[in-house]
Amino acid sequence: MARTVLILGAGIGGIVAAERLRRRLSKEHRIVLVDRERTHVFAPSLLWLMTGDRKADAISRPLARVQRRGVDLITGEIESIDPTDRSAVVSGRTLRGDFLIIALGAELAPESVPGLFEAGHNFYTLAGAESLRTALESFSRGRLIVLTASHPYRCPAAPYEAAMLIENSLRRRGLRERTDLRLFAAEPKPMGVAGPAVSAAVRAMIEAKSIGYFPDHVIREADPEQRRLHFGNGVDADFDLLAYVPPHRVPRVVQQAAMAPEGGYVAVDKHTLETRWEHVYALGDVAGIPLRHGKPLPKAGVFAHGQAEVVADNIAHAIDGKGRVARFEGHGACFVEVGGGRAGMGKGNFYADPAPDVRLRRPAWHWHMVKILFEQYWLRRWF
Ligand SMILES: Cc1cc2nc3c(=O)[nH]c(=O)nc-3n(C[C@H](O)[C@H](O)[C@H](O)COP(=O)(O)OP(=O)(O)OC[C@H]3O[C@@H](n4cnc5c(N)ncnc54)[C@H](O)[C@@H]3O)c2cc1C
Repeated sequence: MARTVLILGAGIGGIVAAERLRRRLSKEHRIVLVDRERTHVFAPSLLWLMTGDRKADAISRPLARVQRRGVDLITGEIESIDPTDRSAVVSGRTLRGDFLIIALGAELAPESVPGLFEAGHNFYTLAGAESLRTALESFSRGRLIVLTASHPYRCPAAPYEAAMLIENSLRRRGLRERTDLRLFAAEPKPMGVAGPAVSAAVRAMIEAKSIGYFPDHVIREADPEQRRLHFGNGVDADFDLLAYVPPHRVPRVVQQAAMAPEGGYVAVDKHTLETRWEHVYALGDVAGIPLRHGKPLPKAGVFAHGQAEVVADNIAHAIDGKGRVARFEGHGACFVEVGGGRAGMGKGNFYADPAPDVRLRRPAWHWHMVKILFEQYWLRRWF
């Protein structure tokens, strides 16, 4: 019998799941992929766009290209989800699947901190990374703050990489001595989920570049007029230029479907990404997976990708009985750009007991090259 797999969200996880299902299943089965966007932006490269090392065109691809592989792409706003019925209303039209994959990522919520949106540049979006690049181009001296407004956020390395890449670009332009560069973080340490050794190594990288590091500073309010940040611990900080990572939350449509607890993400089986609804899966940033030490699995493309492969294989197996049942085992890797054409590389098992077993390789030019190659691979492989 012909089956339909409905995939909500065409980001990293949704694209990988759709393409893999299409390859695994015969043509009688439909793979339907839904997103509000028409363009895919490769998020890791926003950091290079911010420093002027990439243009938007170079890191963007039309999502419509997935149709060339036989995936049905529907562009529209997902207005509601019914996990019991495995259906969603997309721009007024109801779509239903025999299997449903929720791959809607995490929603950015800068407006949840008063004044933040007006005060600075949200480099987690294309528009914000572009406006930050323009602001950096005209920046000549003063106080520059990189801020994480709350945690967890996507890619625990990214704000630290952003600070180091900005530092390097200021140095290249002879502005470093004239800039007071600080990183205010909501979290107690860098990349804490990866363990104390990785945290200490990243902190040492930041401090070696004389970037002032202020962990455990949770923003309460930003004053765009005075260019001042007010933190919950009573500290105030003035800035001339602000680059920030906004608070993240589960997408509103997922919250409204009562698929996630208040303030949390969708609970799943950590190996199969099954939710408590039959034939309904949640993967990538939208899923909340607590690790052995209590911290959540980081929100990162590498995990969305690996989980999407597992979910696609298991749905294909459930439909045609071919292949094997797969399990996601928590392995992941990420690069840590430090500027000057070098990057570190962290890799390990995040499901290890009693805590993630992650090792960070020292910054070297070849890890930076591998990161560039991965970017090129991603943009060619899927589009
Ligand atoms: C600056 C930056 C650097 C990063 N660097 C790295 C890195 O080096 N390595 C790494 O592994 N990860 C990195 N990440 C994180 C990575 O991009 C995310 O973890 C990954 O994209 C998550 O994939 P996903 O499929 O779960 O969600 P997403 O890729 O966010 O996709 C979700 C999709 O759902 C769509 N959507 C949501 N709600 C609706 C709705 N109501 N209607 C219609 N469509 C909707 C969105 O438009 C989006 O396309 C980085 C992220 C940023 C911002």
